[in-house]
Amino acid sequence: MAHPGSSQYTYVDLGDDILVAVARLDGGGICNSGLVGLEPGGMVFDSGLTTRAARDLREAFELRFHRSPSLVANSHRHMDHILGNGAFAGLPIWGTRRTREILLERFDALSAELRREQLENDIRELEAQRSEARTDPARADFDLFIQITRALLNSAEEARIIPPDQTFESHLPLVGRAGAELRSFGSGHTEADAVLFLSRERVLCTGDLALVGVQPSMGSGHPRHWLEVLDELDRLGAERIIPGHGPVAGPEAIDETRRYVTAVLEAAEAPPTRPLPGPLRPWEGSLSLRENLRFVRDWLARTGDRP
Ligand SMILES: [Zn+2]
Repeated sequence: MAHPGSSQYTYVDLGDDILVAVARLDGGGICNSGLVGLEPGGMVFDSGLTTRAARDLREAFELRFHRSPSLVANSHRHMDHILGNGAFAGLPIWGTRRTREILLERFDALSAELRREQLENDIRELEAQRSEARTDPARADFDLFIQITRALLNSAEEARIIPPDQTFESHLPLVGRAGAELRSFGSGHTEADAVLFLSRERVLCTGDLALVGVQPSMGSGHPRHWLEVLDELDRLGAERIIPGHGPVAGPEAIDETRRYVTAVLEAAEAPPTRPLPGPLRPWEGSLSLRENLRFVRDWLARTGDRP
């Protein structure tokens, strides 16, 4: 289902009152969003990287459901999932309690990162690093980071961190639709990620707990507990997975993310001279993998965590 005017997203209709916005990685949305009709109103799950893209989400919602959304939810605290909140002024924004706390604690530092001069500086640094990158995965990473930073720069005037103002801990049934709920299983990709589960339709929006064709980022959460969270997601029995990034998939998206996270843990525990485990080899030399390994090695040393 195409929506005129949206260069940020491709829309996938999953039947009764569920529209998925699959974000282009070279647009201003970056993360996927789930649009769900409720009676009355409806929910936008994850608002994207920029208010510009989020206005596309609002327009798509209105075209599809012939009414306005009535609430927003953020799967986690990363900028590419929350900065679109500003396009939904006046609506309640839901998130886990910990997501709100961290965004409030780091509000000043995160806001400083969004200033125009800072973003211009970041782009210059990324371009310099890209010119020295030696592998294709590394260059691809830099290209993506540069693109994301440019999208932020293009909407810098509007970029505001608006943390969730409504919070839940582990379970929030949504009013106005049977079997629709927000769930949190604790720390994984970040300190407290939330997912949207539609049990009647067996559709699960995972935020960045599961990704398709994009490397998971492991630098903000709990690598070992992430695996337990993925087991919990499996137990929900969803047939359609809307990952945080990448196309709509089946339950194999959860398995693929599990293989990646397990392989990073395994590689981080092994001597650095050992060859990378198979699932990581396509990403060899990439900045994201280097960062994930560095974070998990530090994390293992700091916590003494062992299986
Ligand atoms: Zn994230």
